[in-house]
Amino acid sequence: MQNAESSALLVAGWHRMSYVFGDQSSMSQELQKHILKVHSNARNAITKGKYLVFGVGSTQLLSAAVFALSLNSSSPARVVAESPYYPVYKTQTDFFETVHFEFKGDALLMKNTSDSAGNVIEFVTSPNNPDGNLRKAVLQGVSVNAIYDHAYYWPHFSAIPAPADEDIMIFTISKLTGHAGSRFGWALVKDKDVYLNMQKYVSLAEFSISRDTQLRALQLLKVVLKGDGREIFHFAYEKMRDRWEKISQTVSLSKRFTVQDIPPQYCNFFEKVRGPSPAYIWLKCEREEDTNCSAVLLAANIIGRSGSLFDAEDRYVRLSLLKSDDDFNLLLYRLKELVSKEGGADTL
Ligand code: PMP
Repeated sequence: MQNAESSALLVAGWHRMSYVFGDQSSMSQELQKHILKVHSNARNAITKGKYLVFGVGSTQLLSAAVFALSLNSSSPARVVAESPYYPVYKTQTDFFETVHFEFKGDALLMKNTSDSAGNVIEFVTSPNNPDGNLRKAVLQGVSVNAIYDHAYYWPHFSAIPAPADEDIMIFTISKLTGHAGSRFGWALVKDKDVYLNMQKYVSLAEFSISRDTQLRALQLLKVVLKGDGREIFHFAYEKMRDRWEKISQTVSLSKRFTVQDIPPQYCNFFEKVRGPSPAYIWLKCEREEDTNCSAVLLAANIIGRSGSLFDAEDRYVRLSLLKSDDDFNLLLYRLKELVSKEGGADTL
């Protein structure tokens, strides 16, 4: 809202109608340059020596990466993620299943079995959705490929211990600026063949990414890069840290609920050790009888996502902190009320 005017976009009806830009490419060169600059300011990724692929949100690129990594698999590549994990890895992989890949659940279960034959693709979400912790691949080996989903690897949501330098890294404007509805994500890919196959997937599915979307993303990134190009990270970090502190202080008064632990870490962006500022609360109901935590919260008018959606117990529930101030304040108020009733009549 503070940048309403400079972030606005107006396009004449007759303008930019062609499939391609002036240079005949379907990816805006300007947008590519801006993305690289944003990474360099956030100090969250090594972009040198990597190829860029644009996608309809990062959602499409998650799927494109699975296709690209499994295209030459003689037996189905097994796709895994460490629990608790973002549900779309499973739902999308199941839905688009081909002879080349299938979803196999928790990566830790695979690690603990000796069965390591054939190709494996591990989704690594760092920081993780739902619990905000930084992660590394749990599986290693020549036949294992990791897809790093770095949707939340921005100073707003996490310490940046070092610029990420993985073979496949996926980012999205949905979590950088919050413009989820514009449907724009990008991948940084080291290997040329993987890059070409991801590009092929996107061009077969879409022909190319909407130029209107690219224009909107460019206009937003211009504002992100205004001044010293660091302001948005300070703003968003403070907002998210404040929300985390308010919620975790409230929950610390409770014996019924706990929240996830996120250790303080050195941050390459702030150049100091910093505490948590996650996008989500991963709340646990500690009472033995509270096996359905989202039902406990719903009774207090708080809507969360059940643990089982993330391949965890329903004793857990995910609450989103990516809300307007009004919605966040309502969540905080209702949570405070629920905690203050503990030990009262309803617990007897
Ligand atoms: N990855 C993770 C871990 C997410 O949480 C989300 C959004 N909730 C996405 C990917 C999808 O983002 P996009 O809007 O870019 O498709």
